[in-house]
Amino acid sequence: MKSLRAAAPQPIAYVVDRRALDQALARHAQEKGAELRVGMGVKGLEVDGHGATVRVEGNGHHPLCAQAVVLATGFPSPLPALAGLGEVSRWGIGAQAEVPVNGLEETEVYLGQGIAPGFFAWLVPTAPGHALAGLISSRPGPYLQSFLKDLHRQGKVKSAQAPLCFRRIAFSPLPRTYGDRVVAVGEAAGQVKATTGGGIFYGLLCAEEAAMALHRALSRGDLSARSLSSYERAWQSRLGPEMRMGGWARGLYARLSDRRIDEVFSLVQSSGLADAVGTMQDLSFDWHSPVIRHALKQQALRGLKWLLPVPLRLSRSPSPPRSLSPLGRERGKKDYLGDTPRPPSEGVKPPLNSPKDEFRDELL
Ligand SMILES: Cc1cc2nc3c(=O)[nH]c(=O)nc-3n(C[C@H](O)[C@H](O)[C@H](O)COP(=O)(O)OP(=O)(O)OC[C@H]3O[C@@H](n4cnc5c(N)ncnc54)[C@H](O)[C@@H]3O)c2cc1C
Repeated sequence: MKSLRAAAPQPIAYVVDRRALDQALARHAQEKGAELRVGMGVKGLEVDGHGATVRVEGNGHHPLCAQAVVLATGFPSPLPALAGLGEVSRWGIGAQAEVPVNGLEETEVYLGQGIAPGFFAWLVPTAPGHALAGLISSRPGPYLQSFLKDLHRQGKVKSAQAPLCFRRIAFSPLPRTYGDRVVAVGEAAGQVKATTGGGIFYGLLCAEEAAMALHRALSRGDLSARSLSSYERAWQSRLGPEMRMGGWARGLYARLSDRRIDEVFSLVQSSGLADAVGTMQDLSFDWHSPVIRHALKQQALRGLKWLLPVPLRLSRSPSPPRSLSPLGRERGKKDYLGDTPRPPSEGVKPPLNSPKDEFRDELL
């Protein structure tokens, strides 16, 4: 097993208490005049020329009426499809457990087809003596159990027995994130980092765009789909290239055998790339394309001849359209993330988001 340590001179990410974050956001919204109603499940949504009506369970089952509705239900939810926005076509399953640890101080990421095929596993310290161990896969249960046993054997976690929690993670945007009097944001809209499955940063960014688009539409008195389409243009222009590049890199990684991963590790180590990435000016936990570009431009990685045919072959696959259409969507098809990587020669379908031609020159 090879290991690699990368460090940045200053923190680039924080562990957030999600419950506290949600409570702070709710408090902030209330201070700005929002009315918070809890304990209600939204069951349906109807829209006409006069407004939107939301059917709820709870609240004595009285429907709620509004000028517009923001779908921020997370994933999965039937509501985007009910609103005519279609469905997320690609998703994986995240599994995580809170575990007691022995003095863990740094975040650890584990790669390998036997650990989390096509993805990665993590061990993240959260508080003294505590950590989150998790991974993403299409069948995460057995992988997480075996990961925990391994960590226990290595003495990193005090016990391999911990309650596991599972949740699906969207890996493609909705076909459409706006409609008449409705927008979808966050994971409900599939606004998730293709590289890591993280959705909080993208969700906040897109919520900002949704708020601005709704504000403009309400000021104009025009909440039609056409008027709200500016929301999708805005978030796609901020995140589209990043999501395509991330999807391409993840698709490439998903194809790597453990031997190839070891090869990349050795080269990254011997070329000093890990140190260089740690001190990159534009290193960011939230914007991954600069790191991917930086890595692919390294002479050392270009030495990996098997990397070369991948972008070339992919460049022959149809590029996703430039405009508002979702990235790498396969109409009408629900799909897990592939668990078993297949070698390029088997003619597999392109990864989630194929690289656009604009990447090709840079990568080669
Ligand atoms: C194991 C795991 C680890 C992860 N780690 C990270 C990480 O480190 N960093 C990161 O950025 N992301 C991470 N993610 C992803 C992240 O959790 C999600 O992308 C993020 O929570 C999405 O935020 P959201 O507000 O869009 O949806 P959610 O957080 O899912 O919130 C949706 C809310 O809507 C409510 N709701 C749903 N349906 C209805 C309904 N019909 N009526 C009323 N209310 C409804 C839900 O109860 C929920 O409160 C992880 C995911 C998993 C599974």
